[in-house]
Amino acid sequence: MISTGALIEAFGRWIVPTYARFPLAFVRGKGSRLWDAEGKEYLDFGTGIAVNALGHAHPAIVEVLTSQAQTLIHTSNLYHTEAQVSLAKRLVELIGTGKCFFCNSGAEANEALFKLARKFGHATGRYEILTTLHSFHGRTLAGIAATGQDKVKKGFEPAVDGFRHVPFNDLQAMQKAISEKTVAILIEGIQGESGVYPASPDYLLGLRKLCNEHKLLFFMDSVQCGMFRTGRFQSYERILEGTDAAKKDQSFLPDAISMAKGIAGGVPMGAMWVRQPHADLLGPGSHGSTFGGTPLACAVALTVLDIIKRENLSENAKQLGDYLKSKILDLKSPYIRQVRGIGLMIGIELQPDIPSLKVEGKTPAVLFVARLHQYGLLTVPAGNCNIRLLPPLNIIRSECEEAIEKLRNALAGLAGMC
Ligand SMILES: *Cc1c(COP(=O)(O)O)cnc(C)c1O
Repeated sequence: MISTGALIEAFGRWIVPTYARFPLAFVRGKGSRLWDAEGKEYLDFGTGIAVNALGHAHPAIVEVLTSQAQTLIHTSNLYHTEAQVSLAKRLVELIGTGKCFFCNSGAEANEALFKLARKFGHATGRYEILTTLHSFHGRTLAGIAATGQDKVKKGFEPAVDGFRHVPFNDLQAMQKAISEKTVAILIEGIQGESGVYPASPDYLLGLRKLCNEHKLLFFMDSVQCGMFRTGRFQSYERILEGTDAAKKDQSFLPDAISMAKGIAGGVPMGAMWVRQPHADLLGPGSHGSTFGGTPLACAVALTVLDIIKRENLSENAKQLGDYLKSKILDLKSPYIRQVRGIGLMIGIELQPDIPSLKVEGKTPAVLFVARLHQYGLLTVPAGNCNIRLLPPLNIIRSECEEAIEKLRNALAGLAGMC
């Protein structure tokens, strides 16, 4: 087997260097664990950025992948398949009356939202979509235009027209930003890439109201925070749970939602759900995707949903999410500034200026994530100073305890380096 060192060198030669990769190479996974080329074991609290919702090599996913591959992998959207409509029906049952469009990634799911908005506003000349600062909406040209972070836009100007950013969780700022060109508002229920910042209940309800008043479409990017990660299928369900505001307005729904990442447990898939009266706006010939909604991806997604339901993993995400958060706070580490997040989407913000996490050209987040590798724990950096915990939804308590122990040791190790 090729060594990690040799593999890194080969990547340098053959792979376009769009990622600053960690010096790790995995060869095998099982459940919540991964093994690298040297046989070292890691506890996976990153799940390929919230993708491996049921961990690695889940027997039911192996089984459905195998049987579906033996039956039908792909036919194209020139035809009908049962798996695609079964999945759409299931998503509609989970969210609300509407229809679905399938694609292959988060960026593509957002692209469907953007085209829906353009179509919706076309007759009246409205095309502008308001998004938030520190948001993340994907790497296509429209995706980086929608993303409220300069670093993803730099060098790719001119930007796709029709996107403006306002501060997150600031209803007044959004209200003030609406112009006669505005056609839609797009937010993440929990900002993921910039450091795990959940939307407040009042913000969600306020945006819905604002969109109704101004006849705008209200979009939610659930690519990362959806798929039961928060303990409910959609983050807004969990955010609005139990609040007075939610009781007053039981009928909260966005106009359209983008999904991807964990939806098919590791098989590439993106989806857009859209409610009426907008579900038929994108008519024949207006949009498409060769691979979107293959029988293979849809069969796997249906299986993932079955298992989440059968094993009550939404409750698991809630309970172990709360458990993890309280255990991180119990560490009382002087290096932790704040712990945020909902369910199994947890952000740990590090204090700024930790001496042992100062290296020219690297963020403290990346340096601490790399430190955790030494202790056998995989996490994901977010923003400059946050690490994200995104364990599989079927994580068990003892694995959470193990992760906390590794985190405790890595934090203690920071002091030793000062
Ligand atoms: C990951 C992510 C995307 C982009 O998804 P891709 O599958 O990488 O295109 C879009 N929005 C959010 C919120 C994400 O976390």
